Amino acid sequence: MNPAMSSTDPRGYTVPDGLLRERVILVTGAGRGIGKAAALAFAAHGASVVLLGRNAQQLEDVHATITAAGHPEPAIAVMDLARSLAPAYLDLVEQLRQRYGRLDGLLHNAGILGHRTPIEQYDVATWHEVLHVNLTAPFVLTQLMIPLLRASADASIVFTSSSVGRRGRAYWGAYAVSKFGIEGLAQVLADELQNVSRIRVNCLNPGGTRTRMRRQAYPGEAPEARPEPAAIMAPYLYLMGPDSRGVTGQSFDCQ
Ligand code: NDP
Repeated sequence: MNPAMSSTDPRGYTVPDGLLRERVILVTGAGRGIGKAAALAFAAHGASVVLLGRNAQQLEDVHATITAAGHPEPAIAVMDLARSLAPAYLDLVEQLRQRYGRLDGLLHNAGILGHRTPIEQYDVATWHEVLHVNLTAPFVLTQLMIPLLRASADASIVFTSSSVGRRGRAYWGAYAVSKFGIEGLAQVLADELQNVSRIRVNCLNPGGTRTRMRRQAYPGEAPEARPEPAAIMAPYLYLMGPDSRGVTGQSFDCQ
């Protein structure tokens, strides 16, 4: 255990050099925002990152940034989590199995906000899409990746939560419900895998962060009021690295 680290609060984690060397970590929504920052941070600490997203150009730009910096070469997985069906998921699993033979980290980061609307008026199609991208797709991806995660000596699954996934707030609709669901999924899975696998499962709430989603949710807020994604990476690195071994079934905050 890194001595600079409090065992219960990863916000003050001092990240050792080469923390993620030899690790293979998949990041969803890796093309921009928090997912991009996480992919860059993981690669900078030695991980081979699998960049998953629906926009190939964005992923290629992240790939180019990582390779230009001399970090391990990432892989790209173009997938629209709102629309992909079983063959696309199975193909991804098979490609990772052939290329790496295992998965050491899985960061479920991709998400959509939907509409900020009262439940009385909430559009049903939007409800379905938000629940699908934010909750059902992470469930399916996790289920299919478990065999590869079991092949790791030390695997970590991180689900992205939100403060409205812990205490409901007016007008957050399907987004809040999806994040409550993610907290529940993480707890159930952590309990199932504890003591019978080397896979740990935790939730991480980034807190208000300067991204497109934050601007969409709070259009009147000054962007400088919130930290850049790169500034909140310590807990992500902690949960993906060996210092969080044995930590499972918990919910953490970045801010
Ligand atoms: P952004 O909207 O900036 O980025 C979301 C990412 O998810 C993008 O890469 C986006 O890709 C991807 N994505 C969305 N839909 C799909 C899809 N159908 N298939 C594949 N990828 C998709 O959001 P943030 O970076 O702010 O949010 C990241 C996570 O953090 C989310 O889970 C969010 O709920 C959570 N969060 C964010 C907070 C904040 O203040 N920013 C606060 C609390 C939680 P594309 O570019 O193609 O749209």
